[in-house]
Amino acid sequence: MKILVSNDDGYRAPGITALRGALEGLAELTTVAPERNHSGASNALTLEMPLRVTEFGPDAWFVSGTPTDCVHLAISGLFEHEHDMVVSGINNGENLGDDVLYSGTVAAAIEGRFLGLPTVAFSLRRPAEGEPDFSAAARVARLVVQRLLESPLERTMILNVNVPHLPFERLRGFRSTRLGARHRSDRIIPATDPRGRKMWWVGAAGEGEDDGPGTDFHAVAEGFVSVTPLQVDLTRHAAIDPVARWLDGIG
Ligand code: MN
Repeated sequence: MKILVSNDDGYRAPGITALRGALEGLAELTTVAPERNHSGASNALTLEMPLRVTEFGPDAWFVSGTPTDCVHLAISGLFEHEHDMVVSGINNGENLGDDVLYSGTVAAAIEGRFLGLPTVAFSLRRPAEGEPDFSAAARVARLVVQRLLESPLERTMILNVNVPHLPFERLRGFRSTRLGARHRSDRIIPATDPRGRKMWWVGAAGEGEDDGPGTDFHAVAEGFVSVTPLQVDLTRHAAIDPVARWLDGIG
């Protein structure tokens, strides 16, 4: 069993070190992670420039590209052997609801969807203050991957796992959830560079809007580990017929 470990916070992030440590002994592990933080990179693939791969430890490489680049390289020819699954994270910060559209952590998992087993993205909710402690999320990651190895779900499934920032003993258990949704994000924040030119920061994500029982937001707020099964098909199936009627006679 060969597991590819990646993330979007970069190969030096404490979350990926915690994840790799947690999975030790479950399988043969290979880390391929971005050189720099690519949070918010979504599924970006670098097409207009070559990618460099640098070994930084035993079975561990960093790549001059995005999370998707890392996984794409790793499963498409960088190694002689095939991988069985991709495990991504542990992200420093939650990936709930709309966040999955922007998340590089989830994107890394998505890129591994054609391998033998489902792929998993792990994210840790940010603590109210101070530095994040990844130890409980690391134990959660080991439990989830262990369960997948013992009892595989169908391949091409992507599991988006969010862990509350609590000691392991205080976690209330696991919930299978659906994605909720956020309010519109905060307004962009203007600033001025040293040469007097205007620039902008993207504002904070909105609070949960669709965050009731059954959602990922609700599970995490209640102290449960949220596990949301994702698929890539964005088709709005129920709208195919209405759109066909709407197009009728258009030209
Ligand atoms: Mn990140």
